[in-house]
Amino acid sequence: MINLDKIFRQNILQLKPYSSARDEFQGEADIFLDANENPFNSPYNRYPDPLQRQLKNKIATIKNVPPGTIFLGNGSDEPIDLIIRASCEPGIDNVVAIDPTYGMYKVAADINHVTYKAVSLTENFELESQKVLAACNEHTKIVFLCSPNNPTGNYLNENEINIILQNFSGLVVLDEAYIDFSSHEGYLKKLADFPNLIILQTFSKAWGLASIRLGMAFANPAIIDIMNKIKYPYNINLLTQQFADKALDNEEQKKQWVQTILINREWLIEKLKKLRIVEKVYPTDANFVLVKVTDASRTYNYLIEQKIIVRNRSNVTLCNNCLRITIGTHTENEKLIEALEEYASR
Ligand SMILES: *Cc1c(COP(=O)(O)O)cnc(C)c1O
Repeated sequence: MINLDKIFRQNILQLKPYSSARDEFQGEADIFLDANENPFNSPYNRYPDPLQRQLKNKIATIKNVPPGTIFLGNGSDEPIDLIIRASCEPGIDNVVAIDPTYGMYKVAADINHVTYKAVSLTENFELESQKVLAACNEHTKIVFLCSPNNPTGNYLNENEINIILQNFSGLVVLDEAYIDFSSHEGYLKKLADFPNLIILQTFSKAWGLASIRLGMAFANPAIIDIMNKIKYPYNINLLTQQFADKALDNEEQKKQWVQTILINREWLIEKLKKLRIVEKVYPTDANFVLVKVTDASRTYNYLIEQKIIVRNRSNVTLCNNCLRITIGTHTENEKLIEALEEYASR
C-alpha cells in the first residue's frame, strides 16, 4: 500500500472540494433547475459531467483497466501540475527527473516553487536507477520518467525503471505519451503491481487529437481520487468529451495511422543515415527521430528557409548538434530529404 500521509500535502488531504450541482444530484430527471444554466441551446447549455464517466468507461475497455484508475486532464499538462501541487510543499519539497527529457515537468515544478533536480542519462540516453535514487532525499516527492523519452526517442530499460519503482517511496510518474509507436507495451498492465506509479498517456500523438487537449493519467484509485478532488470542477469540456468518445469508436484508424508512421519512420531513418551531414541517427521508439548533424544551427536555419520546421535540440543536455524530426507524411518526409540532400551537396 502507499502511505498517502507521507506523499500528499496535509492541506490537500484535508481539503473539502467544491461541490457542484452535478456532484450533488446525479440521477435521471426531467427538469434541471439546479445549476443556473440557460434552459435553451441544448445540449451545450448544460455543464458537462465533471468526472467524464462515459468517456472513462470507453477508455477503460480499450486500455483494459478499471475506470477508477483513470484521470482525464486538459492535456498531460494538467495531471503533471496537479501531481506536483498535491504532493510538493512549495519551497520545501523537490522532484527528480531524468535529463534530457520533456520540458513541462521543470516548468510545472518552477511555477509551484518546487526544486527540480535533473539526473543525466548516459551518453546513449540510458537510465541509471542508482543515480536517480541517489539524487532523492527525504523531501523528494516525485520521480519523473519518460519512456519512450522526448527528445531522445528511446524506450527506457525496464529493469532500471523497476528498481526505481521498488526503492523510491514517493510517486513515480512515467510519461508514455509515445507508447503507441513503441515495440514495447509499456506499464499499464503492471499498474496494479506498483501503488506509487502514475502513467501519463495522451490523445495528442497517436490519436491525432492534439487540438482537443485531452490527457490521461492512470494510477491507483487513491491517487486518482486526490487528483479529482483538486482539479477544476469541469476541466474537460463537452465538445472534447464527445469528440474523444467518437474517436475511440474507431481505434482501427489510430492503429492504421501508427502503422503508416512506423513505415515512414523506417524510410526516413534509412535516408537520413545516407546523408553526409548526418553523424548519428539515434534509435527511436517514438514518432520522431533525434539526429546528430555536423552543424545543427545552420541546418536548422537552412530548413526554415525551405519552409520546413524541425526542432533544434542543440542546447539540451547530451544533445549537442541534434535536431529532433517528427515523422510526417511520406510526401513531407521526401521533401525534407530532398532539402537535406540539396543542403549537403552545396
Ligand atoms: C507531446 C507530449 C505530451 C503530450 O502533452 P499534451 O499536453 O497531452 O498534449 C506529454 N508528454 C510528452 C513527453 C510529450 O512529448
